[in-house]
Amino acid sequence: MTLKRQIMTDPSPEQKVTEQHVEQAEKNEARLLKKKAVVDQRIAAATEERGVTILLTGNGKGKSSSAFGTMARALGHGQKSSVIQFIKGRKATGEQLFFGSHPLVDFHVMGHGFTWETRNPELEKEAAEQAWALAKSVLSDPSVHFVLLDEITYMYKYGYLNEDDLIAALNSRPAHQNVMMTGRTAPRVLLDSVDTHSKIANERHAFANGVKAQVGIEW
Ligand code: ATP
Ligand code: MG
Repeated sequence: MTLKRQIMTDPSPEQKVTEQHVEQAEKNEARLLKKKAVVDQRIAAATEERGVTILLTGNGKGKSSSAFGTMARALGHGQKSSVIQFIKGRKATGEQLFFGSHPLVDFHVMGHGFTWETRNPELEKEAAEQAWALAKSVLSDPSVHFVLLDEITYMYKYGYLNEDDLIAALNSRPAHQNVMMTGRTAPRVLLDSVDTHSKIANERHAFANGVKAQVGIEW
């Protein structure tokens, strides 16, 4: 091939780059279309309409705050919500101060007993049973759309409540009711029965590097 002919037929470096871009864009589009087809198929297959049970566990930060975030989502749609916190903090939390006065929210913090600081098994068990009685009535109330049982899993870890009672109440709750539960660890029977379970891993936490717990972030 003469040099002249080669110059006429071979693409210039700019042309080559453009062709590669076009080829890549076509490949990307084909991949996206394929993905979209899979997602569309899944959307078409998900036809069941009912409430779900969601469990958030793990040692990382973000379980309770995520559950309260979801409750804000439900409230945005006018859904009546109920919160039962199974651990009593030293002070009122931001979520209690904020959601506690919302007209669609019933907010309960376990009366006495279980806190992170003090341990008194007898008082704790009594408080746990009272909170559970309340939870049970909420789990059978069709007017409540969203239920948050915050830190409930510790009640099973310490043997204050019976996990089979929880499963029975979840199974017989109103069909449209959504329930979120949190706690670092959970009994096997609960892990196996919820519709959605996310485990939040602790990759790093500011506290481990000496940063003080702060209002608006920790409580
Ligand atoms: P949050 O309420 O911030 O979403 P959480 O519900 O995931 O946290 P809990 O196990 O309930 O976490 O712990 C309650 C408190 O401990 C929160 O103030 C939180 O910021 C803090 N915390 C959570 N994870 C860690 C961790 N890995 N190290 C230190 N402190 C943590
Ligand atoms: Mg929590």
